[in-house]
Amino acid sequence: MSKIIASAAIRGAQEIVKRVDQKVKDAIEKYGADKEIAYPNTAYYLPIIYGNLGIKVEKLGDMPQIMEKCKELVPEVPAEELWIPYLGPTLDAGMATLFAYDIEEALKYVDPDACPYLPGGTEYVDPESDNIWLGAADDVIMRKRGVEFVDGSAPGFAAIVGAAPDNETAVKIAKELQEKYLYVFMAADHNGKNMAEQLKEEGVQLGWDTRLVPFGKDVSAAIHALGFATRAAMSFGGAKPGDYKKVLRYNKNRIFAFVIALGTVTDEWYAAAAGAINYGFPTIADTPIPEILPTGICTYEHVVSNIPHDQIVSKAIEVRGLKIVIKKVDVPVSYGPAFEGERIKKDQMRLELGGPKSTGFEFCEMREMDEVEDGKIEVVGKEIDELEEGGLTPIAIWLEVAGRKFQKDFEPIIERQFHHMLNEAEGVLHIGQRDILWMRISKKAFDAGFKLRHLGQILHDKLHQDFGAIIDKLQCTIYTDIDKIKEKLEYAKKVWHERDTRLAGMVDEEVDTYYSCTLCQSFAPSHVCVITPERPGLCGAYNMLDCKASYEINPTGPNQPIPKGDVVDEVKGRWKNTDEFIYTHSGQAIEYASAYSIMDNPMTSCGCFEAIAAFLPMCNGIMVVDRDYTGDTPCGMRFSTLAGTVGGGLQTPGFVGISKMFVGSKKFISAEGGILRLAWMPKALKEFLADAIKKRGEEEGVADLYDKIATEEDCTTEEELYEFLEKVGHPCLTMDPMM
Ligand code: SF4
Ligand code: ZN
Repeated sequence: MSKIIASAAIRGAQEIVKRVDQKVKDAIEKYGADKEIAYPNTAYYLPIIYGNLGIKVEKLGDMPQIMEKCKELVPEVPAEELWIPYLGPTLDAGMATLFAYDIEEALKYVDPDACPYLPGGTEYVDPESDNIWLGAADDVIMRKRGVEFVDGSAPGFAAIVGAAPDNETAVKIAKELQEKYLYVFMAADHNGKNMAEQLKEEGVQLGWDTRLVPFGKDVSAAIHALGFATRAAMSFGGAKPGDYKKVLRYNKNRIFAFVIALGTVTDEWYAAAAGAINYGFPTIADTPIPEILPTGICTYEHVVSNIPHDQIVSKAIEVRGLKIVIKKVDVPVSYGPAFEGERIKKDQMRLELGGPKSTGFEFCEMREMDEVEDGKIEVVGKEIDELEEGGLTPIAIWLEVAGRKFQKDFEPIIERQFHHMLNEAEGVLHIGQRDILWMRISKKAFDAGFKLRHLGQILHDKLHQDFGAIIDKLQCTIYTDIDKIKEKLEYAKKVWHERDTRLAGMVDEEVDTYYSCTLCQSFAPSHVCVITPERPGLCGAYNMLDCKASYEINPTGPNQPIPKGDVVDEVKGRWKNTDEFIYTHSGQAIEYASAYSIMDNPMTSCGCFEAIAAFLPMCNGIMVVDRDYTGDTPCGMRFSTLAGTVGGGLQTPGFVGISKMFVGSKKFISAEGGILRLAWMPKALKEFLADAIKKRGEEEGVADLYDKIATEEDCTTEEELYEFLEKVGHPCLTMDPMM
């Protein structure tokens, strides 16, 4: 058995290496060895090669050495009589295939006009567009989606090559994988078709948002699945480039992935499957091909064949040993995170609710225990079947909760859950929050029996599951009656206003207890966020109330109270107990951290910072750049490079990862003079934070500070920035030296 497999994989690898070798030669002849080559917006070069060999391929001239390596790796095809009892040569052939594919795919980017892929960074595939192929994911997508693999909201991915025998089967397989929270990466054709094309024909929405990702039509495009996995190992698993053992082990242990081969398994597919085995990813095929059963240390099958389509997903999950806990939500449509990103166009919708042309709001408030009847869901006004098809109606979602451990401070946290909880129902679109709520319900959902009352049902089921520790009972009323809605909205507005003033009024000096977050230690082991009322977590997802609620829900979890103790340094933001907490919980790697300083032992940065603040020595100021801005910056590094320098749980004086909102806080690098140091930021971020920056400028006595902050439209080097600052008279030039 092994002999046939070895032969097929090795034959495939030989063909691939030969072909790619020729392509490299042709490209060098055409463009020259110095021609730069890169996947869009990434700090990981050609990730398979960089991760496993530690070699940065930056120019065409860097490729031939890799091809030589491939040739060394591919063994001879075993002679007929030779019996190979172990997988070694097959695995080597597989690795050579992966390196060669990485090069073959990168070559597609050499001429941007001829590139078959949508622009780098595209997440959403427009259903009207002829081109559906996304190619390599850039680092922004990688970070955003990679975090889901780390925090468990996506257990892994299925790499699908080929096409199902018919569209209906394709849709079924995709949906089954989506419902198991898995990403679906699609590449290669079978009889001229790829599964993504079958899904498109059936009107299924493709893209990162729906977790159905069409990489490309060539089998080489499957490399982007492994490229993603390799980058995850480096970015979240702490694997150093070139430490192939760690890269492969991280994937085998942490990324639950497998290959599903639909259609004729060619020698090339076999070679690619052999490559995937190196990562611990088995292949499940729908055709009768030779199987590779467990050997040595591996406890599961490597290649399993001839599996019927209705069993292929469950078989793959069983072989890879995935344990997926699907939480039940009692609605007549599919439910899960894969449906969160789904869009519903006008002609697909049965009903539109709220939005700019109507009124819509959602609200959560605490009640006494005896005031709530758990599970009671009421619709006041018309239900969906009594409303005109394709019409618009106002809506209010009114949630009342009670719990012995529930606190008023948790109301906004629960209210914020509505967005993703409701969006995760297939056929329900939810945009905005509070009184800018806008929703759509699709015809398909309606036909499946979805009613407005199910919105309440979703909140009921999900909140009990996820917030059971603080919520004992909840009831929900859905209003579509405009008079009632107006009356309720008046009240809600008052409550929101009180909430905002209470939150905005909270200052660090007035509380005794801060909170920690160590959630990111799973990939940045020495990282600790200390979260105070005026300093949210650097990911932007946790403020102090979130941490407090999370602690109530899970007292042994990643958010712990830190009674701050005596002040060590008021200006820099150090307290006896936060110092101690950071020292202990960083595994003694970090002695202490200053909450308000960028220069003296700033807080550690894990990798999920929304933005990075960086010291600009010539300007005596700082810049802030966020993840969405991919261009050059005055500190000489783009965001992706900066992120690589600052992340990983380290303290890097002069640099600090922050949340965007922190820029508007009075404690934002207040040790060095605060917002008056802010000299440069991307235009989009500046506009996003406009109100906060203007307000803070006024408070600091520089009312036109906002206009004095440069953006990429003014300059992208520090020299130019200095000139700009002189011209506008930016305050940082005359402040005390930062160093
Ligand atoms: Fe928690 Fe900080 Fe990670 Fe955000 S960045 S999840 S606050 S540890
Ligand atoms: Zn983090």
